[in-house]
Amino acid sequence: MSERLSPLPMTTIVTTDLIGVTRGRSFPTDELDAYQVAGCGWVPANSALTPQDIIASSNPWGAYGDLRLIPDLSSRVTVNNGPDADAPALDFIHGDIRETDGRPWGACPRTLLRNEVERYRDELGLQINAAFEHEFNLDSGAAEHLAFSLEAQRQGAEFGGWLLSALRAGGVEPEMFLPEYGKHQYEITCRPALGVAAADRAVNVREITREIARQMGLSLSFAPKTAEHAVCNGVHLHVSLQDMAGQPMMYDAGTANGLSSLGQHWAAGVLHYLPALCAFTAPTPVSYERLQPHHWSASYACLGQRNREAALRICPTVSLGGKSVAMQYNLEFRAMDATASPHLAMAALLIAGRLGIEQRLALNAITDEIPDSLNEEQRHARGIVALPASLSRALDCLRNSEALIEALPSALLDTYFALKTEELTLTEQLSPADLCEHYARLY
Ligand code: GLU
Ligand code: MG
Repeated sequence: MSERLSPLPMTTIVTTDLIGVTRGRSFPTDELDAYQVAGCGWVPANSALTPQDIIASSNPWGAYGDLRLIPDLSSRVTVNNGPDADAPALDFIHGDIRETDGRPWGACPRTLLRNEVERYRDELGLQINAAFEHEFNLDSGAAEHLAFSLEAQRQGAEFGGWLLSALRAGGVEPEMFLPEYGKHQYEITCRPALGVAAADRAVNVREITREIARQMGLSLSFAPKTAEHAVCNGVHLHVSLQDMAGQPMMYDAGTANGLSSLGQHWAAGVLHYLPALCAFTAPTPVSYERLQPHHWSASYACLGQRNREAALRICPTVSLGGKSVAMQYNLEFRAMDATASPHLAMAALLIAGRLGIEQRLALNAITDEIPDSLNEEQRHARGIVALPASLSRALDCLRNSEALIEALPSALLDTYFALKTEELTLTEQLSPADLCEHYARLY
């Protein structure tokens, strides 16, 4: 009698693409050695997929070309079990897209981020410690609960417990699972990581959260706005710059808001390029249903201390218990949502901050008031500009930003403009309510 079959454990090499979707190919885990050096095959036009699953017609690749997805073994994530005891293990490794001869491929977002992280190290002597916070909607079919309530926490407790357990097993270092302001809305936060690992970690959070929801049969969405009157889901990116020994470089106890002169130039760069950066950090039509005043997201390019309507927020530090303020001090970028590629968005943000440092840009756009409550003259005096009101406006800002266009590989830009143009056409007939529903299903 032949041996009874059982499913083979599989490992997947993944790339998280320009639209923040994680894709890849799987092989039997016991054959991992054979894939370590040359990875698996990949197709250039995959990078031109819109969220609507249609390959952008004017993309630079068409039917041609072949690539390799090379695994970065240090980034492997393994979660062996979960609420569904029969579900296969989740086992994936982040990869970089390369040409078949090993040269880096210009449109790979993870390579872009790695290159930028290396530039910070080589040219500025800095490393980047960063963490992405994620909000999402989890519909368990249970009754709606009150914001931040213990009842809400208890409704999500089984999911949250499994999520924390799986994140910890996957090496993601979870911090908190909390009920948010919206109906069926929760948030998950994790400890920061250095450089590329921070963006990998954002992907790990999204994929592990989806995995737990799938195993429990729950519907989940990270989309920026899931219904016309829903509270929005943000992704907030916390950044602190450190020297290569891990000492904080953004903090100076001698300044009014604690921001060092390096931190000020960095923040000025981010704010200066923010309207164009939105094309990467708020990259879908529905992102602009969220980026509006009084959403605690961001609608103007300004920095505020503990101000949740500011695009860049100086986060609270705690001196209780003798904690070091300098080690906690960080800037939170709030004009981002989960339709963004973590690698691409983080790379673009770092490029903008580096340009601010190189050009020694002055930081004027500061307000602790709600930017919308200032009048036009007051905003103008401080150089506070409104963020683009739509994706097409953000793409125009990017097209007109010579410095960002020059800093980004043309292969990546050509692909990005092609797919975002296609996405705009595919969604142009949708009302705001339909847009919310449409993207709630996709992300
Ligand atoms: N939900 C808000 C957003 O869309 C953020 C609320 C908060 O500060 O946690 O970004
Ligand atoms: Mg929150």
